[in-house]
Amino acid sequence: MSYDSFEAFVAGELDKPGMSMLLTCIDYRYPRRVLDAMARLLPGTAYDQFILAGASLGACRPDWQDVLVQHVEAALFLQHDIRRIVILDHRDCGAYRHPRELNVPREILEHGLPKDVLPSREKAVHESVLSKLIPMLRKRFPQMEFYAWLLARDEDDPLQIPRD
Ligand SMILES: [Zn+2]
Repeated sequence: MSYDSFEAFVAGELDKPGMSMLLTCIDYRYPRRVLDAMARLLPGTAYDQFILAGASLGACRPDWQDVLVQHVEAALFLQHDIRRIVILDHRDCGAYRHPRELNVPREILEHGLPKDVLPSREKAVHESVLSKLIPMLRKRFPQMEFYAWLLARDEDDPLQIPRD
């Protein structure tokens, strides 16, 4: 099943049996949208949330990946029936611009994205990182389902008014 927005995905996929672990970035612009979607579309549905700078990219740092895995294991130990991990990346992510400063291994992402990256290139780079991350996570959680989204900015863009 494919969805054209994160909200449609939440309504169509996350109401299935079992709980979800959402992995989001630390960026302040996105938690509100995620919490709003979950509360509005799936009121009363329990889920867990974990936050790492860069979401998918942060999860590729070996030490941070260990912490993520330990938290999924902790949730499972606490009888949270986690059956899927939903990775919520976002556009214009500072971590994706500065992988070296975040100690992300070079083989995951060699060069940071420029501020003015083409949207198609940005999406391709997030998918490239996921292509390396998901096999690592599948090894730790073979039964888990994985989903990922690249959320758009929720800021308004001022449009240029033509001059005479
Ligand atoms: Zn970010």
